[in-house]
Amino acid sequence: MSPLRIDILTLFPEMFGPLLGTSIPKRAAQKGLVSYHLTNLRDFATDNHKSVDDRPFGGGPGMVMMCQPMFDAVEAIERLDPRPPMRILLSPQGKVFDQRLAEELATKDRLLFIAGHYEGFDQRIIDGLSPIEVSIGDYVLSGGELAAMVIIDSIVRLLPGALGAEEGAADESFADVLLEYPQYTRPREFRGMSVPDILLSGNHQAIADWRIEQRKKRTQERRPDLWQAHQREVTP
Ligand code: SAH
Repeated sequence: MSPLRIDILTLFPEMFGPLLGTSIPKRAAQKGLVSYHLTNLRDFATDNHKSVDDRPFGGGPGMVMMCQPMFDAVEAIERLDPRPPMRILLSPQGKVFDQRLAEELATKDRLLFIAGHYEGFDQRIIDGLSPIEVSIGDYVLSGGELAAMVIIDSIVRLLPGALGAEEGAADESFADVLLEYPQYTRPREFRGMSVPDILLSGNHQAIADWRIEQRKKRTQERRPDLWQAHQREVTP
């Protein structure tokens, strides 16, 4: 399989270096599972001031990202590779990102993330480029960069081979709607707190049952919304 190609269009490419050069995102690239390509939107400004934003028609605060640099940049990026990317525009007004969408995006062969800044995008960028709009939650960030990084990190760790065998993603929270069970490591006793006996029993079936019970209990207590979804899944 050819590696997933991730293009990122941003005014702040330097924000991505530390993330993409660390831990699992870095290792996945070294293993040839993914490649990252950063493009600075500023390079597509055509006037002397290198403008990429302007004041909103109709008045109001802030600056709006202009059409021309954005369209030129997207078209130039897309010419770099014959595979057409799925265009993903970061926006607090988008579909709220979740593990299901991460799993779907991890099956694509090319993704283009478009990060906004300032007040947001000229509506014609959205109408003309028809990206999917994705939000990472109901709060407003200064720019789409952190949102793109959150999404990229969650996708890359799903690529087959990205996690070592010892790290598997299958049991994790959200993989099947339930949250993960509590984890313990050495020592057995710490400041009077001990590891549940069952985990030391060596009885694999009993441990598996206990973990499932813990997952249900936690999900019920902490995330009634997920618990409802789980109930609907198991009893359609
Ligand atoms: N005025 C806009 C917000 C602009 S925030 C509005 O009210 O909808 C500036 C940029 O940050 C956005 O264009 C988007 O790219 C990014 N951004 C902010 N919050 C985000 C979120 N929750 N999820 C994804 N991107 C976000």
